[in-house]
Amino acid sequence: MQYVSTRGQSAPQSFSEILLGGLAPDGGLFLPAEYPRISGAELDAWRKLSYADLAFEVLKKFATDIPEADLRALTAKTYTAEVYRNVRAGEDAGQITPLRRLEERGGATVLLQALSNGPTLAFKDMAMQLLGNLFEYTLAKQHEELNIFGATSGDTGSAAEYAMRGKRGIRVFMLSPHKKMSAFQTAQMFSLQDPNIFNIAVEGVFDDCQDMVKAVSNDLEFKARQKIGTVNSINWARVVAQVVYYIRGYLAATTSNDQKVSFTVPSGNFGNICAGHIARMMGVPIDKLVAATNENDVLDEFFRTGVYRVRKSAETYHTSSPSMDISKASNFERFVFDLLDRDADRVRQLFRKVETEGGFDLSGRPGSDGDEFRKVAQYGFLSGKSVHRDRLATIRDVRESSGITIDTHTADGVKVAREHLTPGVTMIVLETALPAKFNETIREALGRDAERPAGFENIESLPQRFEVMPPDVERMKAFIAANTGL
Ligand SMILES: *Cc1c(COP(=O)(O)O)cnc(C)c1O
Repeated sequence: MQYVSTRGQSAPQSFSEILLGGLAPDGGLFLPAEYPRISGAELDAWRKLSYADLAFEVLKKFATDIPEADLRALTAKTYTAEVYRNVRAGEDAGQITPLRRLEERGGATVLLQALSNGPTLAFKDMAMQLLGNLFEYTLAKQHEELNIFGATSGDTGSAAEYAMRGKRGIRVFMLSPHKKMSAFQTAQMFSLQDPNIFNIAVEGVFDDCQDMVKAVSNDLEFKARQKIGTVNSINWARVVAQVVYYIRGYLAATTSNDQKVSFTVPSGNFGNICAGHIARMMGVPIDKLVAATNENDVLDEFFRTGVYRVRKSAETYHTSSPSMDISKASNFERFVFDLLDRDADRVRQLFRKVETEGGFDLSGRPGSDGDEFRKVAQYGFLSGKSVHRDRLATIRDVRESSGITIDTHTADGVKVAREHLTPGVTMIVLETALPAKFNETIREALGRDAERPAGFENIESLPQRFEVMPPDVERMKAFIAANTGL
């Protein structure tokens, strides 16, 4: 299988060629030249597979240049009850993404699909753990090494560190704003003692961290010599790994392929729900894909009006579902490419316009950039928005009615899911984090602490290993060079 860029000006490449990279050379995002299809017979056969075996079946359709035996070994090593062990009482870790019944409402069954049972208690582990194993495998084959350099304000950085810790040929340099993350998140990252993980606490805010990453990445000579790479949410392998749990959720919620289900997805960068779109394009009987946003409602605005308008820093809010605090949705271009019938020239024009004018308009109104908004419904997309007080009310209500404590991001999902129920169609809300990670808001909602999974009780008192640094690009480069020896 070959991968093409959404902007149409990069040569097609294989899965392994795009695995370690980010954007395509033309600034676009990679997608398969054609989506592989899943037949009804395949879906039937997949009903009895373990999660790891299902992941293998799905991945082999995309990673056609990795020998099947190797791919099977990689998925078997990744999707184990040991890695995804942080299940709630009564759940089976062997299911990897167990479903829970939340409620019957409006003639529909609402289920939660737990995606947050991995080492960092958030759904990013679902893909990142596989990425760690794929990277190590590919680098060993190429006799190469890679230094991952990024900035985080929470979930992505810790998921990357837990996926890459102890991996041969890989180092991680992760910047975070000094004393700005929650005690729990700081402890999660800084308590890692693995010699290949470097936590750098920058004396500044998240934007200072991101500026340092950009400055270092713009020094192409340094970047090449130090073998610098990233693992951000546009990475194609991350998207593919996420396709698996949509199929798993579908199969676990149904008994035959003439049943449909819908998904509601707490969304930020559109990475998670983009995987749902791909599963649907492959033929999985998904009815609706509902994007739930928080106060940062770029996506909700698009799916209601056809206008995509990115936000400035000053218009980007810090909310109590912080992993959805985005100013633009970095994976959205993948969906727009399909929406425009893969017209790469138009995609290129529209996303240039995002850079120069801050957005585009597909509403079809006079003077707009197109009328493809009318086709959005064909792709199943709907959306909604949830704000702080909705979040608190939903956490309380779900706790009272079902006894389950959900986290703030999942609460945004449940709030929006309830607005889009269809009688007779099961709605699966993706649980993107466990409540222990966002305890401050759980206390505000419930007046008590969220339960912590076993092993996390005293995480804040573990010894921490990190470097404090001013926002100084030259010092950062010297630190990297000293630790890579390159
Ligand atoms: C990253 C994240 C999201 C948003 O996912 P996208 O793929 O960026 O849309 C939602 N919830 C949690 C807990 C996250 O960590």
